[in-house]
Amino acid sequence: MSKLNLKKASFATLCVHGSGGVDEATGALGIPIYQSSTFAFKSAKDGADIFSGEKEGYVYTRIGNPTQAAFEKEMAFLEGAEAALAFGSGMAAISSVILSFCRAGDNFVSSNTLYGGTHNLFMETLPRYNIEAKEVDTTNLENILNSIDDKTRLIYIETPANPTLTITDLAECSKIAKKYNIPLVVDNTFPTPYYQLPLKLGANVVVHSATKYIGGHGDTVAGVVVGKKDYINELRGSFLRDLGGIISPFNAWLLVRGLKTLAVRMDRHEQNAFQVAKFLQFHPKVETVWYPGLSTHPQHDIAKKQMSGFGGMVSFEIKGGCKCGEKLMNSVKLFTLAVSLGDVDSLIEHPASMTHSTYSPEELREVGITESLVRLSVGIEDPADLIEDLSQALKQINI
Ligand SMILES: *Cc1c(COP(=O)(O)O)cnc(C)c1O
Repeated sequence: MSKLNLKKASFATLCVHGSGGVDEATGALGIPIYQSSTFAFKSAKDGADIFSGEKEGYVYTRIGNPTQAAFEKEMAFLEGAEAALAFGSGMAAISSVILSFCRAGDNFVSSNTLYGGTHNLFMETLPRYNIEAKEVDTTNLENILNSIDDKTRLIYIETPANPTLTITDLAECSKIAKKYNIPLVVDNTFPTPYYQLPLKLGANVVVHSATKYIGGHGDTVAGVVVGKKDYINELRGSFLRDLGGIISPFNAWLLVRGLKTLAVRMDRHEQNAFQVAKFLQFHPKVETVWYPGLSTHPQHDIAKKQMSGFGGMVSFEIKGGCKCGEKLMNSVKLFTLAVSLGDVDSLIEHPASMTHSTYSPEELREVGITESLVRLSVGIEDPADLIEDLSQALKQINI
């Protein structure tokens, strides 16, 4: 057990120590990987008491596991929440949260600029169960107000949104949610709790693709939900237990390991992203740069108000359209042409044909994901090398 009072610890200290400290049984510095499906009871009565909930204890890894618990404990600390629940992927976390609030016939209001998989869940899969997502431009709060009716069960926001990095005002959304007595759910994958704390801004539930900055090394797929203890218990007892989208002990261990460096990684991601954004902003072959830290970003003031930093994602429109974007992506040497994000390695991709190909051409137009949009996940390499790489790749383009 940690001797520290973790409730008072600062963020970077929590990253290193929040998962619980030295293992009591063995003295191991790191949390062991409890690679076990089942857990022995001390007696028949002990087993019955744990099953009935009268006593705390582990039963079976689909319901709980000590390595998962260490990760969950740390995530709850970092988001300033009562509790957290790990899932096998971001999509397992998101789908379980939506299903926990909605029944057939219900609807919810959501941002229209979303991770492509989330958009597909909302527009293709959930309608099969008669659950309707009303995707609207949530940068304009009127659109949210106009969409709520007596069957609306939650508001779902992604900010900064993937891939255009538009910002939605979370404090204002939470006022709307409170007025209608429905929960506000926020996908906090892009900023991480290091740069944005939605619960402090009035949100009720936070979801993450832990695959991204939480893990940070491009080696794990995972998700997590944080919120009030009662809600997390209900989610564990029904949706994790019944749908079974659990994380493995090994992946939970990788996330605990990843979190130890979250604060230093995010600082470096942001410094590098800022430099890359400024370089691109003045490049003659670049049309527009989308980075919430730039004063030219349309919602820069809201970003400044609700985020303590702007993160490591940069998108931009290249002059000359899709062909030139293709040339750029084939010409980089240090950036890797790959989807996903939040890794220590820098990544480049084309949203319209890759991550956001779940959007129809009309939907892409509506949310401003053009053919010439390029998305960068800026890694933690030397920023001069990253800029040099983009510079040489841009030189190869003939507009
Ligand atoms: C990647 C991503 C998801 C989905 O997470 P998986 O771990 O891939 O299932 C959800 N939201 C955002 C913002 C993402 O970037």
